[in-house]
Amino acid sequence: MGPFPTVLLDGVGGAVVIDPAWDPDELAAIPADLAVLGVRCVAGLATHEHYDHVLWHPDLGEVPRFSSPGTVAHLSQDRDVLLAPLAEFLTPDLIAIAGRLEPLADGSLPWAGPAARVVVHDAHAPAHLALLIEEPGILVAGDMLSDVELPMPAQDDVTLETYLTGLERLVGTVSAARVLIPGHGTPTTHPMARMDADRRYLADLLAGRASDDPRISDPENADLHIANLARARLTR
Ligand SMILES: [Zn+2]
Repeated sequence: MGPFPTVLLDGVGGAVVIDPAWDPDELAAIPADLAVLGVRCVAGLATHEHYDHVLWHPDLGEVPRFSSPGTVAHLSQDRDVLLAPLAEFLTPDLIAIAGRLEPLADGSLPWAGPAARVVVHDAHAPAHLALLIEEPGILVAGDMLSDVELPMPAQDDVTLETYLTGLERLVGTVSAARVLIPGHGTPTTHPMARMDADRRYLADLLAGRASDDPRISDPENADLHIANLARARLTR
C-alpha cells in the first residue's frame, strides 16, 4: 500500500500537499478534496526520494514542490532509476511531472502557516526529511515511526547503523512534537511511544534477543523483519 498523503492548511486558504498517494484515482481525488474544503494547493513537499512519495497531479497546479537538497540532487542524477517503478502504475503524463522538486533552502518550509522546521537524516532513504510545525507541535515523519511498518532501512544498507543514526537524529524533534503523522499507519498524540517502540525493536535485534514487537506478526512485515535480523547480525 502506498503512503497516505498529508495536507497542511496554512490558515489563509492555502494547502501544502505532502507525499501525494501513488494510485492515479487517489492522486486525482486530492485536488477534488481541496476544492471541497475551499482551499487551493500552494506548495508540495516530498519527504524522500522513493517513487511513491514524489508524485503530483496536474489539477494541484504548477506550484513549488520542495524536498531536501540531497533528495533533489539524487533525483536529478538518477531520475530514471529512482522513478522506473512508476511505469507500471502511471500514465506518461503523470510520470513526466513526478519528482520535479526544488530544494528547501534554509531548513524550513516557506509557507504562510506557523514556523515549520525540517530535519534531514539518512534512515530509510538518503536525505529523508521530517517536518516539525513547531506550534502546535505536529511532526510529519514520512516513512519513519510507523505503528504498522517495522523500521525499514534503505535497501542498500546492509547494517542497521545508518538507520540507528537517523533515528537518534530525530529524538529531539519527536520529543518536541505533540502529534506525529507517519506516512504509513495512524497518527498519534504520543510521538515518543513510536520512537521507543522502534528503539526497543532495534535494540532487541542488535542484542540477539527475540523481539515482542507486535508489528512482526503482520505478514506484510515478514520479509522486512528477516532482512533486519540479517542487518543486525552484520552490525554486531
Ligand atoms: Zn519510502
